[in-house]
Amino acid sequence: MVTGIDLHTHSTCSDGTTPPAETVAFAARAGVAGLALTDHDTMDGWDEAATACLHHGLRFVPGVELSTELGERSVHMLGYFVDPTYAPLVEECDRLRNERLRRAHAMVAKLGGLGVAISMDNVLRRAAGAPVGRPHIAAEIVAAGAVEDFDAAFDQYIADGAPAYVPKHALSPEDGVALINAAGGVAVLAHPGVSTRDAPVDLVLLDRLVTAGLRGVEADHAAHDDDARWFWRNAAQERGLLVTGASDFHGTTKDTGIGAAVTPEAVVDALQGFAAAAVSHETEESPW
Ligand code: AMP
Ligand code: ZN
Ligand code: FE
Ligand code: FE
Repeated sequence: MVTGIDLHTHSTCSDGTTPPAETVAFAARAGVAGLALTDHDTMDGWDEAATACLHHGLRFVPGVELSTELGERSVHMLGYFVDPTYAPLVEECDRLRNERLRRAHAMVAKLGGLGVAISMDNVLRRAAGAPVGRPHIAAEIVAAGAVEDFDAAFDQYIADGAPAYVPKHALSPEDGVALINAAGGVAVLAHPGVSTRDAPVDLVLLDRLVTAGLRGVEADHAAHDDDARWFWRNAAQERGLLVTGASDFHGTTKDTGIGAAVTPEAVVDALQGFAAAAVSHETEESPW
């Protein structure tokens, strides 16, 4: 039995392969106490996931994984308990959706130049209306027979800095934190030990994010090895940040199952408390 909440999962509303209700069913089977649905740049799956959580007796944590960019480095920011109707957040998600389309076209063109012919129509069919992500493109590269598997598609072609990689224009990581906070949410830095080959997230950036209002670090990400977990847990604790854990479940394209790493419920309560405090502070009436 896994005790805790898996605080980072995906569905077909972004680049996962299971619809929100099915992602929740996987969570129920894994025995976690709850899950956060944190699709890339969209809150579209929340209603379905919340209903499914109610059905399975799981705690639902609403979340989003916001794409930010720092130079050629892609930095992911988790936002929990954000107001899904907050206009600037909705606008940023819309902007990113369009930007993802532009970038997918550019990556398909680059792949063609490298002798990997995949069709944009098929990529779009795979995304089925969700924001287009590199996993959709990776699956097409595999289907075209250009590589053996999904990971090889990333390593050889579309990982950050690889020959067919195209960055997307997005907010800076600091602006991402500020946007999440302005939306009444709480910001947690996703998988700091998983990022880009040449330019991993470093402590200088972490300090800048703390100044911007970051509250937590996903030190126990399933893809972090023991050294990375230890390093980021220490870095978080030294800065008074909460430590979260999660699988980053994407469905059947990756081996990692829900519950591969989890967050203690008390930490989720603390995150929710920060979000609630930020909202009540904002709406507080001036005594004058
Ligand atoms: P995108 O949002 O389009 O930049 O795609 C990011 C997603 O691609 C991440 O959430 C991961 O699911 C996946 N991804 C990124 N880098 C890799 C990699 N090197 N190997 C496998 N999957 C990756
Ligand atoms: Zn993803
Ligand atoms: Fe991510
Ligand atoms: Fe993710």
